[in-house]
Amino acid sequence: MTSLFVPPAQTLAATTDGRAFPVRRLFCIGRNYAAHAREMGKDPDREPPFFFTKWAETVVPSGTVIAYPPETANFHYEAELVVAIGKAGRNITSEAALDHVFGYATGLDMTRRDLQLEARDKGRPWDTGKNVEQSSPLGLIHPASESGHLAKGRIMLILNGQTRQDADLADLIWDVPETVAYVSRFYRLEPGDLIYTGTPAGVGPVVQGDEITVSIDGLTPLRITIGALPSE
Ligand code: MN
Repeated sequence: MTSLFVPPAQTLAATTDGRAFPVRRLFCIGRNYAAHAREMGKDPDREPPFFFTKWAETVVPSGTVIAYPPETANFHYEAELVVAIGKAGRNITSEAALDHVFGYATGLDMTRRDLQLEARDKGRPWDTGKNVEQSSPLGLIHPASESGHLAKGRIMLILNGQTRQDADLADLIWDVPETVAYVSRFYRLEPGDLIYTGTPAGVGPVVQGDEITVSIDGLTPLRITIGALPSE
């Protein structure tokens, strides 16, 4: 059969040892640090975990100049630990979850906050707030077979040289095994899936020219710059 147009290239993330990780789907956990849930006006003790999804093509590598997106006046950073799935599974138990984890990376869940909050408050889908072009920057993936698994360690976001987010992975309400297990109740996890595990407190807006660095103990830092939206 003849293709009507050239299909888009598979989104590839990079590992620390120079291999390509074909990105399949993104699952993003919401309000997974108590202090961030409070700053979003929610009670962290009362809420079960929840997640939303994003297109694989929203993933861009460290070093990218991200276009400030249209239809927002409040584009926010969210520093996150990202879990890269390497082995398929449905109804994975927390005890077995780490067997399905290929590795870990630093990530950003860039958000049109004004659109997300409007959708949230009106009970509408979050797509226009969250599933935004270039909105999921991802650092190098560290294979767990070499670096081990991450249960604690400092996670920081630096905006133009100033610390804006500073927390510890140990503060995750739902840790990595629980998160993998939870998502796998709803979807059969597949190799190439990424789980963005949620952001700590301190989220805030960016403007063109801003430089963002995300660092997590033991992982390669992620750096991006905010640029202008192309006319086409
Ligand atoms: Mn997020």
